[in-house]
Amino acid sequence: MANSPAMHTKEIRAAVVRKKGGPFQVETLTLQEPRPDEVLIRIIATGMCHTDMVARDQLYTVPLPVVLGHEGAGVVERIGSSVKKVAPGDHVVLTYMWCGHCLPCLNGDLTYCENFYPLNFGGAREDGSTATQDGQGAVHDHFFGQSSFGSCALAHERNVIKVPNDAPLELLGPLGCGIQTGAGAVMNALKVRPGGTFAAFGGGAVGLSAVMAARVAGATTIIAADVVPSRLVLAKELGATHTVNSRETDPVEAVRDITGGGADFSLESSGRPAVLRQAIDALAIRGTCGIVGAPALGTEASFDVNGVMTTGKRIIGIIEGDSVPDLFIPSLVELYRQGRFPFDKLVKFYNLDQINQAAEDSEKGVTIKPIIRFAA
Ligand SMILES: [Zn+2]
Ligand SMILES: [Zn+2]
Repeated sequence: MANSPAMHTKEIRAAVVRKKGGPFQVETLTLQEPRPDEVLIRIIATGMCHTDMVARDQLYTVPLPVVLGHEGAGVVERIGSSVKKVAPGDHVVLTYMWCGHCLPCLNGDLTYCENFYPLNFGGAREDGSTATQDGQGAVHDHFFGQSSFGSCALAHERNVIKVPNDAPLELLGPLGCGIQTGAGAVMNALKVRPGGTFAAFGGGAVGLSAVMAARVAGATTIIAADVVPSRLVLAKELGATHTVNSRETDPVEAVRDITGGGADFSLESSGRPAVLRQAIDALAIRGTCGIVGAPALGTEASFDVNGVMTTGKRIIGIIEGDSVPDLFIPSLVELYRQGRFPFDKLVKFYNLDQINQAAEDSEKGVTIKPIIRFAA
């Protein structure tokens, strides 16, 4: 009943992953009309995030075939009968999904929702149903509650975030994941303070967003460490006071030298255990290291136990920048409009039929944040 053909009234163009490792195949599919608590969004553009590749390659398991994409931005086309937050015509950014009824959700810790994995990686709604079909049968969807690699997406009222209609919508999708992850880590989780020292280990979209946020937060020493020279040049443009090429210089010694003993805050966004060790070792006494880089499930890392204990260091995991998206995403839009958070410098646009090129450019580090634009 839930998947009866009569409910599939919307034809969409979408990128489907049918086997581990890809490729993304652009196909015509059908999408159901919104349920009472859902919103149908015409996607204008969608960012591509490292997690899309992680899911494509099944480092995080997602059922196949699936429509990925989780940084959607678009215009509300239709709303379910109980939706109050948005109306048709509203401009929205789509973000991660949370259940709203577990204890972490009720405590406001939405990014630590007990149902985070099934809701964001389960390839279906919370009740296990899907809304997308090809000629043969069901295609998994609701990736991060949206599956935005399609010309239209179905999201829940919860993970649809209203943004001003006069903001540049095609640019805003990455605020829903990668950008809020880096910026929120600095502003919400680490709470980098004015006059503080901050070191970003990893200069991809997340690390560079953290650099921009550290400047907004008033940090006076902002260090970016990476192995790609072009990223270090960009980091300087975005607010880094110092850069370290970790291939040429020991970043731990460099951070200690620059800060006179160690950084108050560090952020590991590369997903490499050896770099996490550096991010911990480069901290000052009582410093805090945030972990946002995602390696394969089951990865372990080591650190000097006494070194951490005797210096009172903290090591914290951070998901989606501890963001409460309805509050945080509009604030990032406003910072962008004031010229204080120029994340457009990370972006390169592609069309849907260039999606595999976008993925390749991102993985090679040629493009920091690809955005897939849908033709009007
Ligand atoms: Zn929850
Ligand atoms: Zn993401």
